Amino acid sequence: VVSHCMTITLILMSTLVCQSKLLNDPLYRELLSLPIASDLHIDPESIAEASVDFGLIVREIPAVVLRPSHPEDIAVLVAFANSKSSIPFTISARGCGHSVRGQAMARDGVVVDMTSLGNKTAVSWSQSLGHYADVGGQQLWINVLEETLKHGVTPVSWTDYLYLTVGGTLSNAGISGETFRYGPQISNVYEMDVITGTGHFFSCSPHKNPELFYSVLGGLGQFGIITRARIALGQAPKRAMWVRMLYSDFSAFTTDQERLISLHGRDRDEALDYVEGQLFMRRNSDSWISFFSLSDRPRLMSLLTEHELLYCIEVAKFYDERTRSTVDKDLKTILKDLSHIPEFLFQKDVGYVDFLNRVRAEELTLRELGLWNVPHPWLNLFVPKSRIADFNTGVFKNIVLRKNITTGPVLIYPMNNDKWDDRMSAVIPDEDVFYTVGFLLSSGFKDWQEFDLQNKEVLLFCEDNGIKVKQYLPNYSSEREWMQHFGPKWRAFQESKARFDPKMLLSPGQRIFNQN
Ligand code: FAD
Repeated sequence: VVSHCMTITLILMSTLVCQSKLLNDPLYRELLSLPIASDLHIDPESIAEASVDFGLIVREIPAVVLRPSHPEDIAVLVAFANSKSSIPFTISARGCGHSVRGQAMARDGVVVDMTSLGNKTAVSWSQSLGHYADVGGQQLWINVLEETLKHGVTPVSWTDYLYLTVGGTLSNAGISGETFRYGPQISNVYEMDVITGTGHFFSCSPHKNPELFYSVLGGLGQFGIITRARIALGQAPKRAMWVRMLYSDFSAFTTDQERLISLHGRDRDEALDYVEGQLFMRRNSDSWISFFSLSDRPRLMSLLTEHELLYCIEVAKFYDERTRSTVDKDLKTILKDLSHIPEFLFQKDVGYVDFLNRVRAEELTLRELGLWNVPHPWLNLFVPKSRIADFNTGVFKNIVLRKNITTGPVLIYPMNNDKWDDRMSAVIPDEDVFYTVGFLLSSGFKDWQEFDLQNKEVLLFCEDNGIKVKQYLPNYSSEREWMQHFGPKWRAFQESKARFDPKMLLSPGQRIFNQN
């Protein structure tokens, strides 16, 4: 008991010392003169929360956290950083901090906790746009879904996980199994309100301030803070037929995936709504087994013993009252000539929300097991279709299987280039079809470096073999690497930075313009 009390006393003392240091922080004292003083936070919990992210690999301590009550509070802060502050400081909007490499952090600067702006979703209709929603940049996609469903409508392009903010995913792209058909989330935005790095508010769209509009979408938070986005909506289905099919042959797997995503321009009844895929290995079975019933698991595991590596195509077809009677027939027609292993097709009929929110159930299980708040040394790549077979041999077989350390899902699915808009900042391979490969690794606190070494080996293999991959949710530390990443877009990216955030204040955690 004595030693327990001493430990608590020591923690409290160090917290108080830390807080008194922060109280005397010159930046904090200067910011107190602003009309946002009551929204500034330096208590240890606020600072600690803003110093970490989902990755639990990078830690950068900000001086202050701003919890704005209105978007104008953010503008006050950014304008002050631009012109009046005697102490230079950077600013990072933070959605949920679901980045994995410190992208939403601001060392010694100010982290703006966007979620304090609360829920704001307004659904409207116009002749030219049909249904659309105006949502706050701070809004979680799960809340957007809940609000729009009240009107019988829904966003059409998603991420696998819905507890991400609109501003956070629009700063990257926002991809999932719907992307082949509707494009990434950035392709489904009509207009935005943005506070630029000079502290000015602008509305932007393809017709109004188009340079800002296209720069911000996929712009890694470099040009402005999104406070509102107008999102495209479609009629909401009620349920989803959710299917998984297994392959041992990579070529059959990719041929079928590519065929399925080629059905994107067709009538709703003839196309799928969602196409993804995964690698199944014994090592990462925890991440995929729960989909299958207890009675199916033994034959699945013995198939894995035979093949070591299996490929799984995952598709969904949504339906409502109108299409309830035909969905089975339509699905059968779409899947009829596929070459999956016979007898290894599994189908479930689930509610639309349960389908979209499927990762939440996994999150809750992992939280219970203490396996959610662990390091996540993720690597996400876009791989050109022409080299995906080489990637399979060189990476999946010769690196991932050989090392046998991979825990967590490994996603692989193709997308259509023509659903992306090249004027936006997001970067993709220059081929009609490209694959996203996501190593969504989770490690222990002591061995994440081992996973990172595997990631480095993957990147080196691609470089050595001329496979022109692009990182999604990119993580680089030198200007040379960023130039290479953006390729022909680098110049425009730099010019937009000079125009919209000339003092390079925003999103320093991306380490594009603020590398130290
Ligand atoms: P943060 O991590 O808080 O911020 C990310 C970046 O965006 C930072 O640079 C930040 O400064 C900037 N930013 C945040 N808000 C704003 C704003 N309002 N205006 C301007 N810039 C802003 N991504 C996919 O595309 N598809 C997926 O299926 C997917 N699944 C995921 C599953 C999980 C479990 C997790 C943890 C992440 C997943 N992601 C996925 C990645 C996710 O989209 C990105 O990490 C995204 O940035 C996280 O959003 P956030 O709101 O937490 O942003």
